Amino acid sequence: MQNPPPVVLIIEDDPDIRHLLGIRMKLAGYTPLQAEDGLVGLRALHESHPDLVILDIGLPGMDGWEVLQRIRDVSDIPVLILSARGLEAEKVRGLQSGADDYVTKPFGHQELVARVHALLRRQPTAAGFDDDYRDSQVEIDLRSRAVRVGGNDVQLTPVEFRLLHSLVQHAGQVLSNDQILELAWDDPTATGGNRVKFAVLRLRRKLGWDDASSSPIESVRGFGYRYRILESDAGTGTVSMIG
Ligand code: CA
Repeated sequence: MQNPPPVVLIIEDDPDIRHLLGIRMKLAGYTPLQAEDGLVGLRALHESHPDLVILDIGLPGMDGWEVLQRIRDVSDIPVLILSARGLEAEKVRGLQSGADDYVTKPFGHQELVARVHALLRRQPTAAGFDDDYRDSQVEIDLRSRAVRVGGNDVQLTPVEFRLLHSLVQHAGQVLSNDQILELAWDDPTATGGNRVKFAVLRLRRKLGWDDASSSPIESVRGFGYRYRILESDAGTGTVSMIG
């Protein structure tokens, strides 16, 4: 049986751009869904489980930033942001908020289609992760994807889950941004220390590990990150990989 074509949700208030994007996505072999504002878009996200979202930032009512935040609260779906603004700060804000790519209007449709292709290809997989993990602060059960930190259940997005799992599996070892990209995003060709940086910031915040000096996820400036082995765990055999 053939896989159904990927579904691309287009959240854009300008009807001409929205319809044109819909046609382009259809021609590229995808199933387009169109939403004229953020609320309609979020509803479509819940109901139709698309594979990718193209999100306009300049939306009436709830703007694209808020829509992005709400998407990221529940989903790790690739999000491509469309904006009329080409400022560097806006790109950083987009990545910081969890967008995967950024296209500035006016854009070439071929370029946009190529970026959509790339993002869908880049979809992270859980390949290469086969060990559960436990130490005195973190417990990870791979099969149920359950994570407990400090004895509390935490809900992580798929990328956050793989990021944490990659770090703890290499506890005590410094991983470069590129290594982390490869492990947690399954994307060895990707560049973008920023993507790692902002994902680490979100993960730390979620786990209550914000304080950089005491955070179990330690930054190694200009290079990458290391998951600290606590002294209480070191040499006691508490750290275990459960195959
Ligand atoms: Ca708009």
